[in-house]
Amino acid sequence: MSETRPAADVATDTIAAISTPPGRGGIGIVRISGRLALSIASQLVSPRQPLEHAHARLADVLDPNDPEAARIDQALVTFFAAPSSYTSEDLVEIAAHGSPVVLELLLRLALQLGARLAEPGEFTQRAFLSGRIDLTQAEAVRDLIEAQTLTQARQAASQMGGALSRRVAPVKQDLVELIALLEAGIDFAEDDVEVTPQTEIARRIDTLVPPLAALEASFARGRIVHDGLSLALVGRPNVGKSSLFNRLVERDRAIVTATPGTTRDLVTERISLGGIPIELVDTAGLREASREFLEEAEQIGMRRSREALADAALVLVVLDATQPVNDEEYHLLAAVAGRPAVIAVNKCDLLESAVAGMPAIINVDVSKTAVPETAAGGIRGDAPALEGIPALSTSALTGGGISELRDCILSLATGGAQPEPGMLTNIRQHQAITTGLGALADAAKANATGIPHEMILLDLYRALWALDSLTGQTTPDDILNLIFSTFCIGK
Ligand code: GDP
Repeated sequence: MSETRPAADVATDTIAAISTPPGRGGIGIVRISGRLALSIASQLVSPRQPLEHAHARLADVLDPNDPEAARIDQALVTFFAAPSSYTSEDLVEIAAHGSPVVLELLLRLALQLGARLAEPGEFTQRAFLSGRIDLTQAEAVRDLIEAQTLTQARQAASQMGGALSRRVAPVKQDLVELIALLEAGIDFAEDDVEVTPQTEIARRIDTLVPPLAALEASFARGRIVHDGLSLALVGRPNVGKSSLFNRLVERDRAIVTATPGTTRDLVTERISLGGIPIELVDTAGLREASREFLEEAEQIGMRRSREALADAALVLVVLDATQPVNDEEYHLLAAVAGRPAVIAVNKCDLLESAVAGMPAIINVDVSKTAVPETAAGGIRGDAPALEGIPALSTSALTGGGISELRDCILSLATGGAQPEPGMLTNIRQHQAITTGLGALADAAKANATGIPHEMILLDLYRALWALDSLTGQTTPDDILNLIFSTFCIGK
């Protein structure tokens, strides 16, 4: 993208695009932004009243091939005059009926009249380049469009309103003051300007750190709200993985039969838990498994479980409450040890002693506790493999314990981190803050060793550069182009 979009062109040429998704729809919108926007629009449509800033006007869409015909469509045309528009340029939106032929005609004519086709995200890029929004706000525009849950949309909307930038602004202000103080001490060393004492510099650096550290910590939740995560259901065939999967999905997505290992391939489905998108992966046994092939089916099922484990962020180990834990399951539990996991001891409806949703007692067969020698992390006896992994009694049959299981998965996913305004949501943002914190730590160290202020300033400028890169002020052009190329066309 970066080679095809020289920065010099951006401010001058006029761009156009169909901003609504491809295909037919009730309405469809063509957007034109730039110097020629108004003159191009006036040749495409004939408004009943003169176009006026921020007023929608009913207009006829003209048919250039048949000037005699009154119109090819009727549209609502809205003009936004520079600089009070999304892009800060003259911008016209033509909302016609959502017929691809009409929209494509409008676009083609706009291109003939001097506009060029907008690159993905170019309208928003212009909003950014004109200083109307910063980079975190631009990213939020994309995130809002791509949101799959309302929680994601709310998070994006809050960032679009500047929530993240507002958290950084006061830290930046204090950092700039500290830099100015040290610069003054150097520039006017011969005059009467007092040299800032080491303790004062240390104090000032110390006050910059906590808000940035809090911001860095917000990434734990911000990231999963933004990206979601995956949860693999693993376990032996016939323990009820597919049935639990269906309960969690609340629809009959996976096929369940009474034959062990019914789910042939990986079945995935996205659910929303507390607004966090979670991709459930049901790792399965074998559809054709019959009695003779039970052992083979079991092996393959367990192998798939282990494979699925490798990719998933969270693991739901499903055990059968009526069966003792076998060697295979010990292996599985050993592989899960130390990872975010929860155990569902399923079919608890078949046990009188178990209460759905309550912590489960795991049914260990003592004859099998002469545990596999190879198990990494070493399971000795029954208990250690389960240490730290919550276990719940569930019944996929009655639905008992499912809401507790959901809660457990959610708290596993968030690691207990609470939602807050202005969370970091992507690696770029996180990188900016960790770089800033690293530079401040270097500055503090340099200050403690009594190094000349010029050297401390180098670290402080590095911190400032990092904070500025968060909002896009010092983000290199090729990175900017990369970011905007991930937008859809017309936004
Ligand atoms: P999978 O092979 O682990 O995916 O297991 P399935 O979900 O296909 O279930 C195997 C069998 O156990 C089916 O007959 C289910 O109806 C039954 N089953 C699943 N969960 C429960 C449960 O909680 N209680 C009882 N009683 N039966 C269950």
